[in-house]
Amino acid sequence: MDLAQQLVAWRRDFHAHPELGFCEYRTAARVCDVLAAVPGCKLRVGREVMTESARMGAPAPEDAAVARAEAIAAGANPKWVDAMGDGLTGVVAEWTFPRPGPTLAFRVDMDALPVTESVATTHAPARSGFISGRPGRMHACGHDGHTSIGLGLAQLVARRGAKWGGRLRIIFQPAEEGCAGAASMVEAGVVKDVDYFVAGHLGTAADETGLVSCGSTGFLATTKLDVTLRGVAAHAGMKPHEGRNALLAAATLTLQLHAITRHGAGDSRVNVGQLIAGSGRNIIADHAELKLEVRGSNTEINEFMTAEARRIIAATAAMHDVQATVKVVGAAQGAKCDAALKQIVAGAARSLPPTKRVVDSLEMPGSEDASCFMNAVQARGGQATYLLIGSRLTAGHHHPTFDFDEASLLHGVELYAAIADRILTVP
Ligand SMILES: [Zn+2]
Repeated sequence: MDLAQQLVAWRRDFHAHPELGFCEYRTAARVCDVLAAVPGCKLRVGREVMTESARMGAPAPEDAAVARAEAIAAGANPKWVDAMGDGLTGVVAEWTFPRPGPTLAFRVDMDALPVTESVATTHAPARSGFISGRPGRMHACGHDGHTSIGLGLAQLVARRGAKWGGRLRIIFQPAEEGCAGAASMVEAGVVKDVDYFVAGHLGTAADETGLVSCGSTGFLATTKLDVTLRGVAAHAGMKPHEGRNALLAAATLTLQLHAITRHGAGDSRVNVGQLIAGSGRNIIADHAELKLEVRGSNTEINEFMTAEARRIIAATAAMHDVQATVKVVGAAQGAKCDAALKQIVAGAARSLPPTKRVVDSLEMPGSEDASCFMNAVQARGGQATYLLIGSRLTAGHHHPTFDFDEASLLHGVELYAAIADRILTVP
């Protein structure tokens, strides 16, 4: 099997077995099996590359146990699954070359989304038999492709690495969705010595196979919050005055959060995406849960939105005399791509036959916790970028008919290898 075919085979295997954030046991175990066979590759997994306390929104131990059992039943190597504990599904591959040189890190993400995949025969995964085997879970963002690109790059090290110096690291990150996984890997020191950091995404604003965007702009900083409100239950007819209404508090809170006065210095967002409250018609609700997020066009604006949200949660709880608990389950910062590294990406992209067009940057008005790595690398004087690998998409990201052009996989691997050539080749 040549590399192009191998990339498609990996991608389709990951696509058929989607796993949610911090439960990517089968995916990560497969990654480890492939990397363990690559000459010179040093592997680190689980606690070696993730700090448990810095993880946001980790699964409950019983959910992690179910995910582990599912992964093993689906063919995952138990040796790796056991090393990943409760939701420590990160993997880092590293090569140290004999001659001195810089440290270059690529980050790929591995998680899927809680989306039920389309069974329409116009949808390639359904037509070609690699549709998600799990209703309610789908690789609807292309991370199956990113993981395959990471594995493909590892294959090329053996062929090209003879001319390289320094160190190459490939970071396989869990739980990018919800911006939950990166912080724990940064905390574990995964990029503490990195001089050049590259993360990328298939598609997004680059909806055209052969297009390379050397960087991205418009990253939104974000904070994801889970709020629990606890009131007091009471008979709604006889003694409503003895109740403390958590449902009403949640409704008030939703409206007030969406009414946060906006910052004058840039864009901001707020969304309460889920509200569950109460237990029955004739009972004053004693319980409510909200899942919400705020965003800002930079870290400062997001911090303003987060502080306002916290103030309004506390004030609303006081008004309705209920107890509020707030849990941060995800966060990402703003990020800026370095011009010098974008130039290196541009040179690498232009050297490749599959490249049709190269642009400096495209706007990516989403949130990405690659920003945690980028800011950490830049804070110690390193350079970072978030590039886009163009791919013709069938639908928007996170949609049940989302799919990308598999030709972009080999393009992505060649691009990453060409970047490594430019940064690591020593005379
Ligand atoms: Zn994504």
